[in-house]
Amino acid sequence: MRAVVTGGAGFLGSYLCERLLGRGAEVLCLDNFLTGAPSNVEHLMGRPGFRLLECDLTGFVHVPGDVDLVLHFASAASPADYLRHPIETLKVGSLGTLHALGLAKEKDARFVLASTSEVYGDPLEHPQKETYWGNVNPVGPRSVYDEAKRFAESLTTAYRDSRGTDTAIVRIFNTYGPRMRPHDGRAIPTFIRQAIMDEPITVTGDGEQTRSICYVDDTVEGIIALAGSDFEGPVNIGNPAELSMIDLAGMIRDLAGSSSPIRFVPRPVDDPAVRRPDASLAAERLGWRPRVDPVTGLRRTIAWFERELAREPSPTVA
Ligand code: NAD
Repeated sequence: MRAVVTGGAGFLGSYLCERLLGRGAEVLCLDNFLTGAPSNVEHLMGRPGFRLLECDLTGFVHVPGDVDLVLHFASAASPADYLRHPIETLKVGSLGTLHALGLAKEKDARFVLASTSEVYGDPLEHPQKETYWGNVNPVGPRSVYDEAKRFAESLTTAYRDSRGTDTAIVRIFNTYGPRMRPHDGRAIPTFIRQAIMDEPITVTGDGEQTRSICYVDDTVEGIIALAGSDFEGPVNIGNPAELSMIDLAGMIRDLAGSSSPIRFVPRPVDDPAVRRPDASLAAERLGWRPRVDPVTGLRRTIAWFERELAREPSPTVA
């Protein structure tokens, strides 16, 4: 089995490369290092079957030889990253997806699109089922990500319907774990970094908005199950354990043994009020359910951040 992982030097992509190699696949990791880094896959360098290639998916992609699976994960994912790189995010969601689909079609490979719970926008239906069409502001600041992913889903569906490409769409909900960048701007790495450094934990708005957080091992298990199935999705992969941001901040502070105060800061424009997957389709079609509860997952993540921050006391923004 030969797999191509786009965005393979990012947070999720690096775990996917690792998991595929562990299952005996050859893995070609393509990345332009916009928000990822070779250090995320450093431990895989030199492993038989692994190759890392610097490549921008918005340009034409040529891969010699056979390919059985394309996992298309290239795209900034943290709001801070995609707001800093709005055009790059729209380009990788549109042109990048076009090129990744073209590769899958040329090689007759299975294709999996990393989509997102953000396609549901600020949802009017709760929890979110795959049948919900979403509530997205097409000209709001977050639209560069949300609409790029909605377009990518549409393009993937068109390749399936009109070109016969074997595609699948996974809608990933907030995933966390070791290897997230301490300064990537997402809530969990921010809260953990602030708690460890005994700095104020910055909660946006009144903190009553909710997210459902899934540990990275569970998310990766779901993606691999989808890749190995013949299901086209879209399918939600996320942990229905829903937490308010204020409760999440308090939980992280307690688990880190920190005395950080909570500081309330303005809420970003169009920030969703609630977010929780209905994960029953993944259970039914893939036999998948999340196994790692938030306390266990956060403990593992905090332990990793403690080691990272001790190694590198002043991490810089990538
Ligand atoms: P990440 O930023 O850590 O990884 C994305 C990777 O894509 C980076 O290595 C980046 O350098 C690469 N990339 C960006 N533009 C590229 C381009 N033009 N060409 C080649 N490489 C490019 O983010 P992540 O959290 O690992 O997310 C990976 C994928 O999963 C994204 O598509 C994201 O939308 C999706 N997703 C993630 C989450 C989550 O909670 N982590 C949730 C929903 C969806």
